[in-house]
Amino acid sequence: MTPLGTPCTPSATRVMLLGSGELGKEVLIALQRLGVETIAVDRYPGAPGHQVAHRAHTIDMTDPQALRALVEAERPDVVVPEIEAIATSVLVDLEAEGAVRVVPTARATRLTMDREGIRRLAAETLGLPTSPYRFCDSLDELRAAVDGIGYPCVVKPVMSSSGKGQSRLDGPADLTPAWEHAQEGGRVQGGRVIVEGFVDFDYEITLLTVRAVETDGTVGTHFCEPVGHRQVAGDYVESWQPQPMSPVALRRSQEIARAVTDDLGGLGVFGVELFVRGDQVWFSEVSPRPHDTGMVTMTTQRQSEFELHARAILGLPVDTTLLSPGASAVVHGGVDAAAVVFEGVDEALRVPHSDLRLFGKADSRVHRRMGVALVHDEDVDTARAQAALAASLVRPRPA
Ligand code: AMP
Repeated sequence: MTPLGTPCTPSATRVMLLGSGELGKEVLIALQRLGVETIAVDRYPGAPGHQVAHRAHTIDMTDPQALRALVEAERPDVVVPEIEAIATSVLVDLEAEGAVRVVPTARATRLTMDREGIRRLAAETLGLPTSPYRFCDSLDELRAAVDGIGYPCVVKPVMSSSGKGQSRLDGPADLTPAWEHAQEGGRVQGGRVIVEGFVDFDYEITLLTVRAVETDGTVGTHFCEPVGHRQVAGDYVESWQPQPMSPVALRRSQEIARAVTDDLGGLGVFGVELFVRGDQVWFSEVSPRPHDTGMVTMTTQRQSEFELHARAILGLPVDTTLLSPGASAVVHGGVDAAAVVFEGVDEALRVPHSDLRLFGKADSRVHRRMGVALVHDEDVDTARAQAALAASLVRPRPA
């Protein structure tokens, strides 16, 4: 590997994060600990990652000219996308010109920036099991697609994340509201939607999968213990690790994760989202980066998913060992306010084996993720109950 330099000198190893939310902030901290020069980019000033990087920039990352100009001005060695809403065509061009290395690859960020690219790759190219699905550009097409797929089903904007614009349909009366909700919740107006058959799963997991350089110079695949999680309205509220699984379901999950990540290539952490019923496993999605549900690894693993990502992208060895069962529970804003203060942090931190991350976001909204409580304990059930307790003790109020 290339030796690591000293930040803010000509020898520096420079890494640019595109998207600097709570996940990017932790990647930046992990990089800082290795003496990497860090550049945090987000669409609003004062984003969580802006607060811990050597330099912070605020641009519209969906604007190709603005993105190219910034990369050319900063000349990072590595660009690490943390969000989907990026002008990925610029990353494809810059990578092809040999100007930067994109993590994991520019193609992976392009394929995963909307639900269509990755779903077609998984189901049609790789032949992996997924829910039945169709893509639709109008309400009429949606009606016809649902005639084929049947109820219940789920409609999501192709360009969206965290459950935005997503609805479950139980009958024909839900068609028009679902179409309208998807148009409002998508990143682009008049956007395409995916309709998927509803998978009646026992549980869902994120299988954190790491591609890292081995001693012999080849790229190896490492799996973390499965992370179980619970979603409300398409957004994660709690996660735990390890999720108990049958040996067959675990093996199938790892096979699916390996197939997808082998194809996407490059180095780094991937969050492979899977639905499980008995021994059956369905591929749902993949993030070519650390995953929000994987924040639990900050209390459960020897190296968190953020440290794993930092190490892997620099060509360093990784260790996915689980040290203890544990859980995470989200702290929501609870109020709409320009800034908040958090009451009860002391009480939360008195919960045995607890820890807390407050992301440093100024603008609070009722459902905005402002922090996360982390607890490790002797078993997952205890950790979940204690993490929920710790999160509930943190009480944001308008500043
Ligand atoms: P997504 O934004 O695609 O990750 O969806 C958010 C959450 O909605 C998932 O984590 C599941 O809990 C649920 N969900 C999404 N698609 C389906 C489906 N086809 N069947 C059942 N649940 C789903």
